[in-house]
Amino acid sequence: MWRIRSSITRLPRAEVPPEVPARIHLDKNENPFDLPHGLKKELCDELSKIPLNRYPPAYPVELEEKIAEHLGLSPENVIVANGSDELIGLSLKVFDGNHVVISSPTFGMYDFFATLEGVKVIDVPLGENFELGDVEAHAEGARAIFICSPNNPTGNAHPRKRIIEVLETGAPVILDEAYVEFARESNIDLVKDYDNLIVLRTFSKAFGLAGARLGYAVASEETADYLRRVIPPFSVNSLSLKAGEFMLEHLDYVRHVIRYILGERGRLYREFKEYSYPSEANFLLMRLDAHNFLLKKGIAVKKLGGRLDGHIRVTIGKKEENDELMSALREFIDLTMN
Ligand code: PMP
Repeated sequence: MWRIRSSITRLPRAEVPPEVPARIHLDKNENPFDLPHGLKKELCDELSKIPLNRYPPAYPVELEEKIAEHLGLSPENVIVANGSDELIGLSLKVFDGNHVVISSPTFGMYDFFATLEGVKVIDVPLGENFELGDVEAHAEGARAIFICSPNNPTGNAHPRKRIIEVLETGAPVILDEAYVEFARESNIDLVKDYDNLIVLRTFSKAFGLAGARLGYAVASEETADYLRRVIPPFSVNSLSLKAGEFMLEHLDYVRHVIRYILGERGRLYREFKEYSYPSEANFLLMRLDAHNFLLKKGIAVKKLGGRLDGHIRVTIGKKEENDELMSALREFIDLTMN
């Protein structure tokens, strides 16, 4: 007699928005730029030399070394996997404890992977200005306290002081820095002082490799060693590993794209200040119920619900995409507010 595990019967499918037919996609916090032609060609030439009949390295040491160099840390601190999504689930396998703490509204995959692991999810909602609440009240026995900074979908980063306060409880903290390259500061250096910290990063946003599925975790050598034990060998494919290394060899290009996105974010924010929240990420949270209106014009943005009902999350796109978005939003505001 077979039975489905009870954690699976409770598990809804991960909430991935359906692909919408739109001309302009500002709904998934992707980087609007694929590699420019010359760089893409150079990368493809390198990819063409990779023997596809051979397994990738069992553990992606070379990329981990390059990431460590980029961060000024040791390769022992870095663990590469298939996107930071996968690392959320793997991190939860490392620690003991029967519940996780999340702070809604936040990234949905924390709830998903915790439920998959069969652990309870305690939500301590963000405060009025999206600041962290009293998550420390649930530190005892926690398998992990998730802190997303900058937070998706609100865009704000949590102050370092507050992150340290949570770390001081001694509970495991998973600090998701998926958008940190667009923020003022990172807290990755705290892994030197706190064994209870795992920081998650990704190549999907600033580095523009969402399609390659490449993420990494950073932790103290001891914690990283435990995390390495739960990662199956050969998990990241050779093509993605090469793409990641390639981007780290072209940091000037990456920095140029980040500056462009920050410039466009400022332009959009200034124009719609009255309806936008300040952001340290590659998107803006807006108090405008414009999802359907924009979709009719061929522009996809993310519609939010629950406490953020009537809000949209808008990814910063290319200048011409943002221009179209801005003129559509002006039209929406004229129609609905006057
Ligand atoms: N963390 C946050 C906060 C995100 O918004 C996302 C992607 N939307 C991820 C992690 C997942 O990143 P990856 O593509 O590396 O799985």
